[in-house]
Amino acid sequence: MTDYPMLLAPLDLGFTTLKNRVLMGSMHTGLEETGDWNRVAEFYATRARGGVGLMVTGGMAPNHEGGVAPGAAGLFDEQDIANHRTVTGRVHENGGKIAMQILHAGRYAYSPQCVAPSPIKSPISPFVPRELDEAGIEKQIADIATAAERARAAGYDGVEVMGSEGYFLNQFLVTHTNRRSDRWGGSYENRMRLPVEVVRRVRAAVGKDFIVIYRLSMMDLVPDGSTWAEVVQLARAIEEAGATLINTGIGWHEARIPTIATSVPRAAFAWVTKKLMGEVSIPIIASNRINTPDVAEGVLREGCADMVSMARPFLADPDFVTKAASGRAEEIAPCIACNQACLDHTFSGKISTCLVNPRACYETELVLVPADRPKSVAVVGAGPAGLATALAADERGHRVTLFEKADRIGGQLNMASVIPGKEEFAGLVSWFATMVARSGIELRLGVAASADDLSSFDEVVIATGVRPRDPGIPGQDRPNVLTYVDVLRDGAPVGRTVAIVGAGGIGFDVAEYLAEAGESPTEDLQAWLDTWGLADPQEARAGLSPQGPHPAPPKRHITLLQRKAEKPGRRLGKTTGWIHRAVLAMKKVRMIGGVRYDAIEADGLVLSDSRTGAPLDRIVAENVILCAGQESERSLADELLSKSISPHVVGGAKLASELDAKRAIHDGLLLAVSL
Ligand code: NAP
Ligand code: SF4
Repeated sequence: MTDYPMLLAPLDLGFTTLKNRVLMGSMHTGLEETGDWNRVAEFYATRARGGVGLMVTGGMAPNHEGGVAPGAAGLFDEQDIANHRTVTGRVHENGGKIAMQILHAGRYAYSPQCVAPSPIKSPISPFVPRELDEAGIEKQIADIATAAERARAAGYDGVEVMGSEGYFLNQFLVTHTNRRSDRWGGSYENRMRLPVEVVRRVRAAVGKDFIVIYRLSMMDLVPDGSTWAEVVQLARAIEEAGATLINTGIGWHEARIPTIATSVPRAAFAWVTKKLMGEVSIPIIASNRINTPDVAEGVLREGCADMVSMARPFLADPDFVTKAASGRAEEIAPCIACNQACLDHTFSGKISTCLVNPRACYETELVLVPADRPKSVAVVGAGPAGLATALAADERGHRVTLFEKADRIGGQLNMASVIPGKEEFAGLVSWFATMVARSGIELRLGVAASADDLSSFDEVVIATGVRPRDPGIPGQDRPNVLTYVDVLRDGAPVGRTVAIVGAGGIGFDVAEYLAEAGESPTEDLQAWLDTWGLADPQEARAGLSPQGPHPAPPKRHITLLQRKAEKPGRRLGKTTGWIHRAVLAMKKVRMIGGVRYDAIEADGLVLSDSRTGAPLDRIVAENVILCAGQESERSLADELLSKSISPHVVGGAKLASELDAKRAIHDGLLLAVSL
């Protein structure tokens, strides 16, 4: 008997059957653009072997004007079709099914060629789109239908027509972006004509026995977005036009409301999808922040959907489904929704991978082969770098001893997990604990390894991490001064008015922690919806509450400071930094850049202007908290070197600058591959 009877139940689509209710949602990994089709094929084949019911590829452009950017991948000629056959062939050999997403970006395309229903620039692209005329619209429909036909020729089992997240088809649906007065604009019947016609023509192009998924926006989260009645009307028309499945999307890309970040509660939008159940007879797929088999099963059990889409969880663990099906759910490497190695990479023009699993998208390059000669390996420090090294070395057959001076593993991950909205980090620590317990690693907790302890090992790996940087501010040894470690790890009491020295990732985290004082909206769906101004789309157009955001009042008066004369938080994560800045703005955190710290006194901080030296207003604060960056903790490494033992040094102990868990885990894995 499985713990996930609904998730693992087959789904009969009439002409074909999916082996379970798990869809791997579309992700743009950047792999197709490498031109290395063996690598693309191995990425999908690995996930097919992992048992997922149906996969959807990253978005493929139907034509050049519809690509997300110049050079975006698509099926434009026979060579493209042959390349994609490599992928579909390998997926089928491994027992999987795969659909190709057709993505027309419309005005979201980062290209001067972009087209849209009306010439209205989006806030996330610098280009004003060209308004399509009747012939131009017909061309777009025909190109999308042709792309579907080519997908079939390339061996795909289906296509997903991207109709949500504010892309081209979505742009026709709402007056926010469609100001036309011809038969493609005006009334809702006219505005939905294009998406419905697209599905009709796609179905006509591919025949009956081919999966056609339509991704439909449940709540646009932008002004003048669709009403709920319009969403239902569209869903029915899409079914009528020939779709096999309706997948769901939440929020346009330009919406300033988080929809997939780690601070979004798990399955936060399943209740919205549930409203569509019963309105159509084809299966409906729920998405967004579903990342464990328990959450997914819950979504199905509560009747919110017929199938569940998860995308990033398949970067974190390609074997999600087989592990769930074989009673090993706790071995599933969790997607913590950090975006640090997937979306942040995509938006920086880099290939996606995963913080938790750096082998994602590097399946052909980062291969853990059994060691020729198993060695005894000592790893010192059970933070992310040490854990990643130890697990991978163990997998390769080495005999690993892992020393940790604290009484638990996890290192800095434990501090991250107490930040409101970063609860997922605790799951990552639990996963590491499970994997260490099930490995051959000898874990020695509460042991500060000495150079003598390490002298007999074949290889020594120093993963001792970082320590807080000493900013050398006069008065910093006063009792009112704390470090982030005192606050986050040791739970030191903190007063009502606080000044934070340093506005990096940790300064922001500490500010959020102190502003919420133990109450995390991520753990309380209604509180989270209120915070961001979301409402029931049946009552409020596009899911936007007329009252707007309604955050709980801050628990403390906080001032966040930095020496650089730039906007604090500018260097935070590419796709998540705006969320942290918005949260602190909601919590009325005062942010001041361009300061010099002259002295800390009993009741605050004396500052001057970092450029002119002119005195600035004193900051009155009961506590000053130092978040001034970190330095490598490498005293043990240096001691070993002085005794002629050459250790490997990984993670923060190697380089503290811009250290995060992504680099630490990647470093550890790379070393283990070479041991
Ligand atoms: P950080 O991002 O480098 O920030 C350090 C802060 O301290 C900066 O504001 C810096 O700004 C200030 N500072 C540096 N030297 C100082 C000195 N001598 N005196 C006073 N202030 C000084 O480091 P962090 O905040 O410790 O974070 C560590 C790493 O964890 C970073 O790589 C960060 O990306 C990562 N992290 C990320 C997140 C996230 O949200 N993704 C969250 C937490 C941590 P000035 O030099 O301008 O004063
Ligand atoms: Fe999930 Fe973070 Fe990995 Fe992306 S990088 S897949 S968000 S854990």
